[in-house]
Amino acid sequence: MGDTITPLVKAVDMAKKYGDFIALHPLNVEVHSGEFFGVFGPNGAGKSTFIKLLTGQLKPSKGLIEVLGINAVGDPQKLKANIGIVPESESPPSFLTPVEFLEFVAKLRNIHDYKSEVEFWLDWFGLEEKRNTMCKDLSKGQRQKVMLSAAFIHKPKLLFLDEPFANLDPIYQRKCRQWLLDHVKQGGTIFLCSHVLEMAERMCNRMAIINDGKVLAAGSVSELKISKEETLEDVFIRLVGRSIEDVERINEEGISEEE
Ligand code: ADP
Repeated sequence: MGDTITPLVKAVDMAKKYGDFIALHPLNVEVHSGEFFGVFGPNGAGKSTFIKLLTGQLKPSKGLIEVLGINAVGDPQKLKANIGIVPESESPPSFLTPVEFLEFVAKLRNIHDYKSEVEFWLDWFGLEEKRNTMCKDLSKGQRQKVMLSAAFIHKPKLLFLDEPFANLDPIYQRKCRQWLLDHVKQGGTIFLCSHVLEMAERMCNRMAIINDGKVLAAGSVSELKISKEETLEDVFIRLVGRSIEDVERINEEGISEEE
């Protein structure tokens, strides 16, 4: 796009293999300050792998990854200290209470008035009653709320979210979506992975659709639609469905295709 501004997220020729299995084919991505970028695809498409590579949790098989100007491969610790991450299906430590965990995170993030910030988020997520319950005894949704609080508490300039609302009820999904949109309005940048297309249409200004570790299309929602009538679900089925048909055809015909 000829941008001269340095992107916050930049991956060049980034790829990932697990053994011989190609989870992510080489791809390039740039996310700029103030964007709400989404990666969408069915289960097993490579979304978590994508986000783990960008956040320094996994090493790529090849490629260059720079996030906030930090080399994600060479300096993953520095990177993790400077971003917010909500990993898929991870829980807060079992034997800490929400208060203990959030105070720990807030202190780690150097939040000076950390006690009132913790109180704010416990209240925001309706967790006051469970403030002193060990996290192992919380429901899945309550644990997810604690994880989201831990990511939101220091209002990171760049936030990575992997299926962030899977266990939340519709009320809190809406509340979180609104918080994220406000965060972007105030200058934050978000990179989100999900299979929930609703989220793309409502929130993302740019997105990529992936399947089988390949980017099938990328752009704004309107760029991805071939007609005004097409819904995002139609786009998804058109792109992902076609790629599934390709795989079936290749399996049947035994064609060996280049990558
Ligand atoms: P998604 O998040 O889109 O559901 P993932 O990135 O978790 O997909 O996985 C992409 C593919 O890589 C899947 O086929 C999955 O089975 C495989 N995969 C993920 N992690 C590993 C691993 N540690 N070892 C081997 N294969 C893996």
